[in-house]
Amino acid sequence: MANEKKISFEVIKRLPRYYRYLGELKSNNITRISSKELSRRMNVTASQIRQDLNCFGGFGQQGYGYNVEDLHEAIGDILGLNNGHKTIIVGAGNLGRALANYKSFEKRGFKLVGIFDINNIKIGQNIAGLDVLDFNEAEKYIPDLAPDIAIITVPKEAAGSVAKKVISLGIKGLLNFSYTDIDVPDGVEIENVHLSDSLMTLSYKLEQQKKLNQ
Ligand code: NAD
Repeated sequence: MANEKKISFEVIKRLPRYYRYLGELKSNNITRISSKELSRRMNVTASQIRQDLNCFGGFGQQGYGYNVEDLHEAIGDILGLNNGHKTIIVGAGNLGRALANYKSFEKRGFKLVGIFDINNIKIGQNIAGLDVLDFNEAEKYIPDLAPDIAIITVPKEAAGSVAKKVISLGIKGLLNFSYTDIDVPDGVEIENVHLSDSLMTLSYKLEQQKKLNQ
């Protein structure tokens, strides 16, 4: 992994997909795969796969292909998944609840350790095995829970102050679902998930198709 610093972000963005496919192969007891076969399944060219994986020192062997388990483990390592990340959810509404009950996050190393809200009706409710905690008392809980990541599922008006609070308590990674962009200081990473942006992009593509077919 000597050249890791020079890896382009485009390559990094493709790694979760490799990780997902390799995980599926692993659960189907497939122990090795050629770049050609992986390319067929993933709909990416074999040369793209070889180029991407060579960035990290190359995992394949000529005539053998890739050892699925080793490659899965190695990509998990590059993505920082193998040590796991403790995660909290702030906002125990429809979305927060759905995410808390989504078991695949935990399988990928994101362990949910706390769910927070400010609504007295929600506080104390049990969601996915955890009692919802009062976010107004975040200082009391977060240092002990020591999460790396906060998933923000509050209304957009509250997102900025929630982000500020969790950052002040030492959280370095935010996954923001609120429909607003949040500024974070250096040293804190944020990913925004805006489903409506994807819908708008899809809408654009549909419009282009319509024009082509006119
Ligand atoms: P919701 O109203 O069901 O839940 C929001 C929860 O946040 C409520 O339980 C509320 O009590 C809590 N809350 C409000 N202020 C808070 C604060 N300061 N601290 C802690 N908790 C607080 O809403 P929802 O349907 O779950 O949606 C949540 C957010 O996600 C909204 O901003 C919504 O627009 C957004 N959303 C995003 C996507 C996406 O693709 N990004 C999809 C659906 C919804």
